[in-house]
Amino acid sequence: MKIAPLLFLLAVSLTPAPAKTKAKNVILFIGDAGGLSTINAVSAYGHNAPQKLYIQSMPHIGLSDTSTSAEWVSDSAAGMTAIVTGRKTRNGVISQGPDAVRGKQDGTVLKTILEYAEERGLSSAVISNMSMVDATPAACYAHANNRSMAGEIALQIASPRFGDGVDMVIGGGRKAIYAATEKLGANLDARLQEKGYALAASVQQIPKGAKRVVALFDGPDFDPLPVVDQAINVLSTNKKGYFLMVEWDMHTDNLKRGLDRGLVMDKMIRQVASKVKNDTLIIFAADHSFDILLRGGRIGEPLLPVEGRVEKRPRLAAIDGSHSGEEVVVAAQGPGAELVRGFMPNTQLFHIMMAAYGWKESPQASQ
Ligand SMILES: [Zn+2]
Repeated sequence: MKIAPLLFLLAVSLTPAPAKTKAKNVILFIGDAGGLSTINAVSAYGHNAPQKLYIQSMPHIGLSDTSTSAEWVSDSAAGMTAIVTGRKTRNGVISQGPDAVRGKQDGTVLKTILEYAEERGLSSAVISNMSMVDATPAACYAHANNRSMAGEIALQIASPRFGDGVDMVIGGGRKAIYAATEKLGANLDARLQEKGYALAASVQQIPKGAKRVVALFDGPDFDPLPVVDQAINVLSTNKKGYFLMVEWDMHTDNLKRGLDRGLVMDKMIRQVASKVKNDTLIIFAADHSFDILLRGGRIGEPLLPVEGRVEKRPRLAAIDGSHSGEEVVVAAQGPGAELVRGFMPNTQLFHIMMAAYGWKESPQASQ
């Protein structure tokens, strides 16, 4: 059987050329469900004009496939696993291979870009307006055969496989996370404090300059701009560099909420882009698309229906409020961003980040 040469060819074709210049830091923004039609609608809604988002001005653009190892339409678990490990898996699975059986059996543990960073002594952080054990942040620092294993996922913050583990975990899900770890008989706070994390229950409680912090909130979205700004200040003190993932949910099953969050995401990327030096690769991507469609309306008129008015045919509609399977936009700037181009598999984002850092995949990652 001549399988080896074929595998070699596959590996070569998936590995991008080396980056022209190396990145010290990578910031990965994930607009959860923020596909092309959502980006388009956010500009129309927020700016009443086409292509006014910062994302739409970024110099390097590619189109990422979002299928999983087994399904055409991805959830956040399989979508984010592909982006941060370079391997496609099944829906519901968190950074384990497609040999995992959801809820039944563990699969191959896949090494994430955050773990590569930790192994090399860089700093790392995940920030989100969703629960910090939700699929998108979880896929960066945890491994589970089922995304709903909230307690097990949270406890993995305190039992890292590489380095000293993710340094900052800031976002939602507080009550549910503590309930899930208590159900497992674990004292999450004690385990985190043992590993040197400061704990916070609100943005205000995050100690200024804290290098290791787990801050879990409940309630409405926090303002991410000062939080991300502060996180970058702290992460930048590591001379080796950092990896930062910021997720902002952009699901548009609630149209207004999704579009408002899209505007927040865009503002955040604009601010970060003006702050960081040219040693930082910034990528915006979505883990999967959403079935929102712009079907009418006039420029200068509000995109969403005025409250109380019934529209026969809404200008903007989420067809049945589901994820959808088409490619999503990836936008990038900074060292290595030139590797973002054309149609590409979602796994390519991992290889692009690795190439930007100048790192080679370690063999255990493919086991
Ligand atoms: Zn998602």
